Amino acid sequence: MIKKILLSLFLIVSINGFPNNPKTYVCLKSNSIIKIDGKIKNAEWGQISWTDDFVDIEGVVKLIPEFRTRVKMQWDENYFYIAVELEEPHICATLTKNESVIFHDNDFEVFIDPDGDALNYAEFEINAFATYWDLLMDKPYSKKGNANTEWNFNGIKKAVFIDGTINNPSDTDKKWTIEIAIPWSCFCDDPINVKKPKSGENWRMNFSRVQWEYFIADEKYIKRINQKTGKACAEKNYVWSPQGSINMHIPEKWGYVRFSDKHPVKSKNWIWMNFDKKKSLKQWDSTFCFLQNHSIRGILIQAGVEQLKEIIPIAKNYNIEVHVWKWILNCNDKDIIKNHPDWYVINRNGVSCLEKPPYVGYYRWLCPSNPEVLEYLKVQLKDYCKIDGLKGIHFDYIRFPDVILPEAIQPNYGLKQDKEFPEYDFCYCDKCISSFKQKHGYDPSKSEDPSQDSLWLKYRYNSISKIVNELADYIHSFNKEVSAAVFPTPEIARTLVRQDWNNWKLNAFFPMIYHNFYYKNIDWITSATNQGVINLPDSVSLFSGVYIPVISADEINSVINAAKKGGAEGISIFDINAMTPEHWEKLQK
Ligand SMILES: [Zn+2]
Repeated sequence: MIKKILLSLFLIVSINGFPNNPKTYVCLKSNSIIKIDGKIKNAEWGQISWTDDFVDIEGVVKLIPEFRTRVKMQWDENYFYIAVELEEPHICATLTKNESVIFHDNDFEVFIDPDGDALNYAEFEINAFATYWDLLMDKPYSKKGNANTEWNFNGIKKAVFIDGTINNPSDTDKKWTIEIAIPWSCFCDDPINVKKPKSGENWRMNFSRVQWEYFIADEKYIKRINQKTGKACAEKNYVWSPQGSINMHIPEKWGYVRFSDKHPVKSKNWIWMNFDKKKSLKQWDSTFCFLQNHSIRGILIQAGVEQLKEIIPIAKNYNIEVHVWKWILNCNDKDIIKNHPDWYVINRNGVSCLEKPPYVGYYRWLCPSNPEVLEYLKVQLKDYCKIDGLKGIHFDYIRFPDVILPEAIQPNYGLKQDKEFPEYDFCYCDKCISSFKQKHGYDPSKSEDPSQDSLWLKYRYNSISKIVNELADYIHSFNKEVSAAVFPTPEIARTLVRQDWNNWKLNAFFPMIYHNFYYKNIDWITSATNQGVINLPDSVSLFSGVYIPVISADEINSVINAAKKGGAEGISIFDINAMTPEHWEKLQK
C-alpha cells in the first residue's frame, strides 16, 4: 500500500515537472550467463538499456558532470546484476583494504532499500582497485541511524575493468567499468527480511559516484587541498536520481527499479496503415517482404473483412501480425446519425455533437454509457472476430472528444484551453445525467464547476473503461487480442480525453507519444513511455506510438532507443505514408 501511495505521488510530481522527481528503470530478466569480469560485453549486456546519465546530486541543472556515468541492470533467479561505466581520463585509487572508508578515493556507490520504507537499507562502495565497503543502515543518519559495518552482502561478486592505466598520470585513460552480482539471499535475513522481487515489484535504489579533485605532482595524483580549511576540497557527487541536497541518506528521494519477468528482446515495431485497394496481391507480397526486412513485426490496418482475408495469408508468410484498426466511439455511420441521434454525446451547454461537432466536422461521438451503443459495436466487430488468422482488434477513438486539446494543437483552432470549457465538455445526455443522479443523488450539470467534481469525472472515466472492458471480453471470447491507441500517459489521457487506460483489460497499448503535440522533445518519449509501463500489469505490452512527420531519418533509431529505455517493447509508426526512403534505410534492421 505504501508503495502504491509513493508511486502515485511520484506520478503527480513528475507531471508537474518538478526537477527532483525520482528516476525509474525497468530491470529485465537476463537472457545470458553473466561472467563478472568488469567488462560490459555485448553478448551479456548488448540488449539492455542504459539509465540516464548521472546528474549533480542536488539536481542543479547547470552543474552537468564533467564525466559521464551510467548503469545497466538485469536480474535472474539468483542475482541482481549491475554494470557501471565511469568515464575518467585519470583513473586512480589508493585503498586496498576491504571495509575501509572507500569514498576517500574516487568511488562508485550502490544504495538499496528493497521495501522502500526508508529503514534497513544497504550500501556498497567500490573503488578502481575493486576494494569495497558494505554496510547496513537501520535508518538515515539524520534520524540518528547507525551504520552496521559488520553487515555484509554475503556472496556478492564484483570486478572492475580499467580501460586505461591506474595511478599513471602520464597518460590519458578512457574509463573504468564495474560489474556487480548481488545474490538475492543477501536480503533474506533480519533485519531486511525481503525475498527475491516478484515481477512488477519496485525497489528503491540510487547510485552515486564520488569524484575528488586531483592535481599531478611527482608523477602522482595528489588530492587538492582547500587552503582555507587545510582539508581536501569538497568532492563532487554525481548520482542517478537527484537527491535535492548533498546527502545520499534520504532514501525517499531514490529512484525506482521495477523488476520485470520480461526478457530483453529485439524491438517489435508496428506500423499504422490503410488498406490500399489499388494494390495487387503480388504487390502486397512485396509490401510485407519489405516490412519484414525493416523490423516491422505487426501492422494495424484499416480494412474490410474481405480485404483482410486476402492479405492475412500473405502477411503470415513474412511472420507479420495483422490487427484490424477500428474507430470505436467516433461514429459517422449515416444510418446511426439518422436513426439514433440520441446515441451521441451532449455537451455541458446541452448541445449534441451531431448538431455542433467540436473542432472538426467528423467529431461525432457515441455515448459510452448507452447499452445500445455497446450492442451496436459488438455487431460491428463480430465479423472481424471470426476472421481466421486475424491476430487482434486495435481500438482507436475510444474516448470522449478532447475536453482539452494537446497544448501545441490548440493554436490551430485559435484556442487557449487553460480550463474545461462547456462546449468541449461531454457527456451530459439524459442517460448519463440520470444514471449519475441515481447513484450520487445530484445533477452534476448543476455543479458550479463540473471540472472540479471528482465523482463526475470518475463516472465518465468509468463509462469509457466499462465499454472497453466489455468489448474486450467479447473479442477475447473469439481468441483475438485487443489493443488500443491511447493518449501518451495515463495522466494526460484522463485530463484531456477521460481515458483511464491503465484500468483497461487489454493485451497491448499504443500510447500516441507524439512529443511535438505537447511541445516536448524526443527525450520525453522515455519518461512518457515509462509512466505507462509502470502503471500496467507486467503481462501487458506497451509500444510507443511515434509521429514520423516531425522525426528525421537520422533520429528514428534514437526514438526507438528512447522508447525502449522507458520500458516499451518497441515503437509503432504513424504512419506508413509519412515514412520516406531515408527513414526506411535508417530503421534498425
Ligand atoms: Zn451520455
